[in-house]
Amino acid sequence: MSRLDPIQSFANLRHEFGEHGGVNMSVEASTTFTVIDPTTMPEIFQGHLGPDVGGCYLYGRHFNPTVYVLGRQIAAYEGAQAGYCTSSGMAAIAATIMQLCDTGEHVVASRTVYGGTFAFLHDYLPAKAGVTTTFVDVSDLAAVERAITPRTKVLYCESVSNPTLRIADIPRLAGIAHRHGAMLVVDNTFTPLIVAPIQLGADVVVHSLTKFMNGASDHIAGAVCGTTEFIMQLMDLHTGSLMLLGPTMDPQVAFDISLRLPHLGLRMVEHSRRAHAIATRLDELGLPVTYPGLANHPDHALLKGLANPDFGYGGILALDLGSRERAFEFMSLLQNEHQFGLMAVSLGYSETLMSCSASSTSSEMPAEELEKAGIRPGLVRLSIGYTGALEQRWLQLRSVLERMGLVSRADPG
Ligand SMILES: *Cc1c(COP(=O)(O)O)cnc(C)c1O
Repeated sequence: MSRLDPIQSFANLRHEFGEHGGVNMSVEASTTFTVIDPTTMPEIFQGHLGPDVGGCYLYGRHFNPTVYVLGRQIAAYEGAQAGYCTSSGMAAIAATIMQLCDTGEHVVASRTVYGGTFAFLHDYLPAKAGVTTTFVDVSDLAAVERAITPRTKVLYCESVSNPTLRIADIPRLAGIAHRHGAMLVVDNTFTPLIVAPIQLGADVVVHSLTKFMNGASDHIAGAVCGTTEFIMQLMDLHTGSLMLLGPTMDPQVAFDISLRLPHLGLRMVEHSRRAHAIATRLDELGLPVTYPGLANHPDHALLKGLANPDFGYGGILALDLGSRERAFEFMSLLQNEHQFGLMAVSLGYSETLMSCSASSTSSEMPAEELEKAGIRPGLVRLSIGYTGALEQRWLQLRSVLERMGLVSRADPG
């Protein structure tokens, strides 16, 4: 498969006009769909007719036209055959893993996955479905290989680990998974447009659209991309985990997100540009900053090789303040006295969002797992926004660094 130009493949999608020729698509706010000929209904139930065959829709929890179009748009950005949208990122992740694993089967997952994903794999799935997970450092390919058993069906990772910002070597991980008859599932929430995992060998991509994709922090939403066959399996009326567990997306939400997707590229470029500039200056001041765009990051060369050019190295950086108390002081000063950003979980918003991972978004992980994963108590994750001017933002940040004695007035930058 040729490497994807995500902007081009999005632009090449057939434009979806509204009902009266509007430049935006219409919201199909119906939960049920009329058939003209009674013989159509059994054909839909048997899977012989559907959105792509005969343009037939059945019921809103199954395919909805508005949600279907959004799924195609996201699949275009990912260079995937097909995609469908879910009511949350966790719904996309849970439905995908449950579709791929039966009772007694096994997952190998990155040790640094999103806290909710960790809890789902570590606690929920073994109890409810008898599916077990071995957690490994996916940067250690030999450890990944060793963790795979004859029952392993899924190798699971995030394109960029949270909040440690290590990069998954997707082509090599896909090679390992496929050699053992498993599927590589990649959560690409942190790097839409920057990394296209399916183009690099992954089988399924899952997204929390709640973050960069939607970008407005007003909807919880998710998506799954993969082969048409896999998306159809998820929606199967008898065995599909999206269809039967029911977390499909609401068409009103799909419509809102469809209005924001066209400027995803502009937003990613600016998130990346600002994060890179701030990380570079923190690094020049000798502070312990982690950002994959910096030459000193252990996976800088890897990401450079995998990333689509033009979108930079992402909008997330991490700064180690040394202790939980210092991290709290840092965030509090930045929000409450210098208006640099907001203390809130989540990411990919127009404003900078700050959180202390060990005591918030990764707190589902036990202390020893946090330690193994390198998530230190004073690590602050910053999702760099694009409001205001970069220089003004830098002065706000610098003032706080000076107040905390981390840099002195005389330091450059
Ligand atoms: C937020 C997040 C999720 C979960 O998504 P929701 O939309 O909150 O369900 C999954 N993976 C990553 C990497 C995330 O950041």
